[in-house]
Amino acid sequence: MKTTTRVVVIGGGVVGCSVLYHLTKLGWSDVMLLERSELTSGSTWHAAGGFHTLNGDTNMAALQGYTIRLYKELEEITGMSCGLHHVGGVTLADNQDRFDMLVAERAKHRFMGLETEIVTPEDIKKIAPVTNTDGILGALYDPLDGHLDPSGTTHAYAKAARMGGATIETHTKVIETNQRADGTWDVVTDKGTIHTEHVVNAGGLWAREVGAMAGVYFPLHPMEHQYLVTEDVPLIVDMMKDGIEHPHVMDPAGESYLRQEGKGLCIGFYEQPCRPWAVDGTLWDFGHELLPDDFDKIEDSIDFAYKRFPDLETAGIKSVIHGPFTFAPDGNPLVGPVPGMRNYWSACAVMAGFSQGGGVGLMLAQWMIEGECERDTFAMDCARFGDWITPGYTRPKVIENYQKRFSVSYPNEELPAARPFRQTPMYDTFDKMGAVWGQQFGLEVANYFAQSDEPRFETPSFRRSNAFDATAREVKVVREAVGINETHNFGKYIVTGPNARDWLDLIMAGRIPKQGRLSLTPMLSPKGRLIGDFTVSCLSDHAFQLTASYGSQAYHMRWFEQNEAEGVKVANVSDRLTGFQIAGPKARDVLTACTRDDVSEMKFMDVRQLTIGLVDCLVQRVSYTGDLGFEIYCDPMAQRALWDTLWTAGEPHGMRPFGMRAMMSLRLDKFFGSWLSEFSPDYTAAETGMDRFISFKKNTDFIGRAAAEAERDTGPTRRLCAFEVEAEDADVNAYEPIWLDGSVVGFCTSGGYSHHAQKSIAQGFLPSDRVADGLEVEIEILGKLRKARVLTTPLFDADGARMRG
Ligand SMILES: Cc1cc2nc3c(=O)[nH]c(=O)nc-3n(C[C@H](O)[C@H](O)[C@H](O)COP(=O)(O)OP(=O)(O)OC[C@H]3O[C@@H](n4cnc5c(N)ncnc54)[C@H](O)[C@@H]3O)c2cc1C
Repeated sequence: MKTTTRVVVIGGGVVGCSVLYHLTKLGWSDVMLLERSELTSGSTWHAAGGFHTLNGDTNMAALQGYTIRLYKELEEITGMSCGLHHVGGVTLADNQDRFDMLVAERAKHRFMGLETEIVTPEDIKKIAPVTNTDGILGALYDPLDGHLDPSGTTHAYAKAARMGGATIETHTKVIETNQRADGTWDVVTDKGTIHTEHVVNAGGLWAREVGAMAGVYFPLHPMEHQYLVTEDVPLIVDMMKDGIEHPHVMDPAGESYLRQEGKGLCIGFYEQPCRPWAVDGTLWDFGHELLPDDFDKIEDSIDFAYKRFPDLETAGIKSVIHGPFTFAPDGNPLVGPVPGMRNYWSACAVMAGFSQGGGVGLMLAQWMIEGECERDTFAMDCARFGDWITPGYTRPKVIENYQKRFSVSYPNEELPAARPFRQTPMYDTFDKMGAVWGQQFGLEVANYFAQSDEPRFETPSFRRSNAFDATAREVKVVREAVGINETHNFGKYIVTGPNARDWLDLIMAGRIPKQGRLSLTPMLSPKGRLIGDFTVSCLSDHAFQLTASYGSQAYHMRWFEQNEAEGVKVANVSDRLTGFQIAGPKARDVLTACTRDDVSEMKFMDVRQLTIGLVDCLVQRVSYTGDLGFEIYCDPMAQRALWDTLWTAGEPHGMRPFGMRAMMSLRLDKFFGSWLSEFSPDYTAAETGMDRFISFKKNTDFIGRAAAEAERDTGPTRRLCAFEVEAEDADVNAYEPIWLDGSVVGFCTSGGYSHHAQKSIAQGFLPSDRVADGLEVEIEILGKLRKARVLTTPLFDADGARMRG
């Protein structure tokens, strides 16, 4: 066995083998995979082998498309069969919401190059004749859906990797991973120790145990899952005589997936009475074994399936497969560099290894070899959870995710499991005021405030929800008087040290302000992609406060740590600083009334230390509402006192609290982008207009400079635009196609209703050479083409007089 290598991948399931193959494909051949038993010895061997592209997250869907297309390539490279059955598949819709969701997915597929289509119940009968279409409104047909041989495919990945120079050692169990002072690793196995630069945890069912060897908690655990294979079914036998293979049928109402297996059928369930498995850890002696059959927990699902697929009722059951596989709290994989670790990578919690394994392998290999991925991977980045995550949180979330696997996911939906979890001192006060809560990064955030005669629950919907009136009220308060909400859901960092300014100049593309001022700046990756959208406040020559997205704390801290420098300390104070923002024409009057300091001289983009009532605060004159506003930061221990002062001073001015729904409406008036919608690693600064904040004048080779300069010289091929949409009851959410002259030329990034302007507003990309004020386009919302017009003048305070005044 080799004793030194560049990468050790731990785990020879489909995911580990895909990672290994992709490392070789991208040029690293000195790579090694260790498997404690035979390849496929975890979840992989008993998978049903189904694959499909449908995924609520657009980037995940694109990666699933990549995975599926890869199988042919693997077969060609290796000469091995993956046992591919590209039979296509239909996902049924039995109610309007589910149909809306499928139509919206279909629309996205237009610019993703996926050839799906919406089919009628009559079409379904022809395509998938085992289906009883009573009560079915239609379906999404995807010709790429199909299934394969899980073992053959895993071995094909392994062979392709070996052909690229990789080594695979089976029957070699990793028992320790020990990091040396230089950041490299000793991987201790039962056959000896291997010294390696990088470790990849692809331990699947044992990912937690492998992680614990390095002191890392991976938020995942297995769930039991069961599928049945029937004896021969006459209808299938007849179809086979005509050389036709029955396609897949996903029936979300019955929480089942069905396909042909031999001359019979195979059906699996995501049942509500589901059961977590090995929550406290997977035993090392669990091997190639199945769990005992359990018909009780799928009894209701089987009854439903008999109605939807009547042929099942008369078919005998040939075999039952009941096994465990892992889930993260939101069901997406945990991939990437593990925050807080050097040279330690995650490829875990892949619950659909045959739909996602290829994409996971490609992204991880790009990350390791090229330093960044070709697309935004936040949906599967292991940094999307923070160090607040606990096994106690993971468990109910994993169960919720399993149960909702086939549910409609709505853009405004707030999932209830494991809540409320993290709260600020304001929780009870806002709750009494009618707050309707959402959750962000584990933290309770007020979405809006219901009146006493309104429900305390926002109905999940693709259309405008019952939050509409409350949001309108809150917007009006901000635009006409003064609104207040918390600043708790900003990521906040304090950068200190003699080299703090120089370091910030290198990390951030924008200008770093002088003392007492703040600036807005993009943070770029080396390839010029947007990896942050920051406000930088200069507190002193050697101290700065940064604010950015709350949900990206672990992501941003990982980047800061990867780029750490002598003489600079970066502290994540996101939960150690809280406070309020007040915004609206009366905001200055309120602040003046509660401090002895002179607020009148505070200009737009100023930052000051003020004592407000009893509390020492850091105050920034800036507001994402686009209005006159102040962000006020304080110690959480003093937040209630600060609230009492601001509220007492604010009430006479008509102050009311406002929530995130109002905030997202207000920002639309100014066409402000939002993180992970308009600003994400999928886009560059010039494409999104963030290049106006880049300081090309500064004498620093900031990260991403060369890429940004190159783009400045050529100009971006697409540009972010704002649109007024002739919508009816549904606004743009994200990724709706933009049509021009009969073809799709772009897509939306986000949208919503501007309650101030009383217009439906969208943001999205158009080819640069087509952008023009007033350009008429059409945006496809829930299957309908809506007229839209490019806007270049903000809908509120176009000259900035109010914001800056
Ligand atoms: C009943 C069932 C049906 C399914 N159907 C489908 C389907 O139709 N389509 C689909 O896409 N997915 C399906 N899945 C899910 C799929 O099986 C998983 O997504 C996939 O197998 C995960 O692969 P993995 O490589 O991450 O993990 P695993 O397959 O669990 O592989 C991990 C490997 O790591 C090895 N290992 C662990 N610790 C060590 C160590 N210390 N040293 C060395 N080696 C170690 C293990 O022995 C194992 O081989 C199904 C799962 C189940 C249970």
